[in-house]
Amino acid sequence: MHGRLPLESEIRRRIAVAGPMPVAEYMALCLFDHEHGYYTTRDPFGARGDFITAPEVSQMFGELIGLWMSAVWKQMGAPENVRLIELGPGRGTLMQDALRAIQIVPDFRAAIVVHLVEASPLLQAQQEAALEGAGVPMFWHPTLAEVPKGPAIVIANEFFDALPVNQAIKTDRGWHERRIEIDDSDQLAFTVAPEPIPFFQSLLPPGLREARAGAIFEWRSDNEAVEMGRRVADGRGAALVIDYGHTESGLGETFQAVGQHAFADPLTNPGNLDLTAHVDFQALMRAVEAMGVASFGPIDQSQFLRRLGIEQRAASLKAKAAHAADIDQALARLIGHDRTAMGELFKVVGFAHPSIGVPPGFEAG
Ligand code: SAH
Repeated sequence: MHGRLPLESEIRRRIAVAGPMPVAEYMALCLFDHEHGYYTTRDPFGARGDFITAPEVSQMFGELIGLWMSAVWKQMGAPENVRLIELGPGRGTLMQDALRAIQIVPDFRAAIVVHLVEASPLLQAQQEAALEGAGVPMFWHPTLAEVPKGPAIVIANEFFDALPVNQAIKTDRGWHERRIEIDDSDQLAFTVAPEPIPFFQSLLPPGLREARAGAIFEWRSDNEAVEMGRRVADGRGAALVIDYGHTESGLGETFQAVGQHAFADPLTNPGNLDLTAHVDFQALMRAVEAMGVASFGPIDQSQFLRRLGIEQRAASLKAKAAHAADIDQALARLIGHDRTAMGELFKVVGFAHPSIGVPPGFEAG
């Protein structure tokens, strides 16, 4: 057929050969197919891209996270060597701003080796360009498992929402995996696996077992969360995860597509839309805690950034800046509570080895 995207042809070929495709497999192909995946073929960030992330809104975000990392390093007993690991660094902006801010803590800067975990070669090249001349040793890896072991501080902003999500749908006969087929009108469409997933109900959080027919439950592989927990435990360090999602596991469909700052149908235009699903923070925390790590939060991004001093930072930038209104606007975007702002939509969780105590921003009260 003319005009069909190459990735759509490949997805249709796979469905023709192997039958309806699990949602997670579809999502992984759309985002990271080596030739045609969304992240492998473009830089989606910024006002002219498809969406904008907190580090792209303002330098204040990365700066405050840099200072958070330096405080955590002191709580770790200021080890002489520490790995700063960032999962999914995008354009490299957060790390760039963080490394600039921690110039005021020279001992910490001297102890750092940066490890960036990035699956897209195109974004890796962009990160290399952005971080050239940062003045600290830096390495790239396609997965966290490949980062060398040792004392570690891990950061992940809008990483976990991009990991492939599975869906199951409740029927009278149990929970069936949701899949993607080619329907009678030759369109990609959702369908359900004929047989229920054995024992699925007993694996659900107790409150969700009585769901009515038609309910949808989403879950992800625990691999990345478990590996992150292992790094924090073995490295006697800490981790910070910032993302949108629900604080407790729940029912409902959040698998969604965004292109050019607008929602779209996730089954159209494969490879050209950003696909995400909300992070289930309860599931994430359970997986990380299982590695012997303490967890903190979730708290709203607004509360977290205020506790780190974003309002003071904004005031001092405004005193020096020609465009004070821009700084007010960025601040409102990062900590505001209306629906277009990130302050309440985004949640922050911290993880720490039990020996280091409470990471900054998560103090009680
Ligand atoms: N943290 C950045 C970018 C968020 S977008 C910011 O806040 O601006 C998600 C990032 O994670 C992209 O860099 C994407 O290529 C990367 N990514 C997503 N899934 C990944 C995976 N499984 N392994 C490695 N990198 C991944």
